[in-house]
Amino acid sequence: MRYISTRGRAPVLTFAEVTLTGLASDGGLYLPERWPRFSEREIEDLRGLPYPELAARVMQPFIGEALSFDALHSLAQEAYARFAHAAVTPLIQLDARHWLLELFHGPTLAFKDIALQVLGGLFDLLLAREDSFLTVIGATSGDTGSAAIDALAGRERAEIFMLHPEGRVTDVQRVQMTTVRAPNVHNIAVTGANFDECQAMVKQLFADEMLTSRHRLGAVNSINWARLMAQVVYYFAAGSQLGAPERRIAFAVPTGNFGDVFAGYVAARMGLPIARLVVATNVNDILHRALADGNYSADTVTPTAAPSMDIQVSSNFERLLFDLGGRDGDAVAAQMATFERTRAIRLSPDQIAGTKALFSSARADASDMAAAMRWAWDRCGLAIDPHTACALHAARMLEWEAGVPVVTLATAHPGKFRDAVERATGFRPGLPRRVGDLFAREERCTRLPNNYEAIRRHILDRAMPR
Ligand SMILES: *Cc1c(COP(=O)(O)O)cnc(C)c1O
Repeated sequence: MRYISTRGRAPVLTFAEVTLTGLASDGGLYLPERWPRFSEREIEDLRGLPYPELAARVMQPFIGEALSFDALHSLAQEAYARFAHAAVTPLIQLDARHWLLELFHGPTLAFKDIALQVLGGLFDLLLAREDSFLTVIGATSGDTGSAAIDALAGRERAEIFMLHPEGRVTDVQRVQMTTVRAPNVHNIAVTGANFDECQAMVKQLFADEMLTSRHRLGAVNSINWARLMAQVVYYFAAGSQLGAPERRIAFAVPTGNFGDVFAGYVAARMGLPIARLVVATNVNDILHRALADGNYSADTVTPTAAPSMDIQVSSNFERLLFDLGGRDGDAVAAQMATFERTRAIRLSPDQIAGTKALFSSARADASDMAAAMRWAWDRCGLAIDPHTACALHAARMLEWEAGVPVVTLATAHPGKFRDAVERATGFRPGLPRRVGDLFAREERCTRLPNNYEAIRRHILDRAMPR
């Protein structure tokens, strides 16, 4: 499989290259040159497979020659061996229509583990082949940071510099990042910044010639294609449990950067019969507004109880715009240039028609989130986290065709957001024992001002050569 940029001007890359790169050189994001398609028979054959084997089957077409099926299968087995649930992504019934897909049984209790544990393994294999070293730089509003750090800690051929906005991540998220002792892990708390500002600095670092000439920079946020690829898998896992290919299934997805829900779109493109993809936002609702009326326009970020969705600019939305707009790189480049200038664009008629055909959306405010947490607790005895609550709110609010099961993606363990859960339900969820003594461990983190030069210097002084 070969990979092309959404802006049409960057070199076409192989799977190995795309995994080890961040943004495309034209500022776009990479996508497979075409969507692989599964027959009904191939989807039927996924039923009852152990998760790692199902993962290898779903990912294989994207990887092609780069890894044999057996190598990919053992990579997936290794990645999921540390998950605390034998099903990896168990599906829980809520009522006659609604289901919860629990994606938080990985080492850092967030769905991002599912893709990042695979990505860590891919880095090892691909970098060893090239005898090369990778400097990963990323920004996090919480869950990406801890999951990426866990996935890369102690790896021989990669190191990670992770920026987070100081005071804007939860205590659990912070200690999950800062108590990792591996010497290849570098935490940076940026003072007086929000997530979008940290993300903007990371973009600037990737474009900085002084850095890129000495270091091979890699990305672990959802601009990295391999991450999205690994997330396509659980849509197939849930779909095949609930009767695909014969039965159509809907998914409600708590959305920030549009990565997770884009993986659902890819599953649909590959042949999984998805009736509807629900884009669920909190009050930072740029995507809800874009899908409702075709105007994609950024507002200011409002902090909420679901910080991983406190985002205005959703990088992966560009991938959808590209695919729905006839894969016209020049048109997307022009659209994104307008967006960068005016913070607003209008979707084209094709893009609007494409979104209407598959996507619905809904926005949850603080009381909607609390009500969804209460419903799950009172009616099902289940604690859900505020991100999941946004999606459950959307799933329960929309009208559904008879017979379509609706799967809400549960993206974080409720124990990671226990203050918010307790406020809504009166119940304070615990953390699983395996993460037990986090708060007793020593923290390691550098505080730096919200200043590009300071952060660049810090990284240049410490990063390993390529
Ligand atoms: C990252 C994250 C999201 C949003 O996922 P995107 O891929 O950015 O849309 C939702 N919930 C939780 C808990 C997350 O960590």
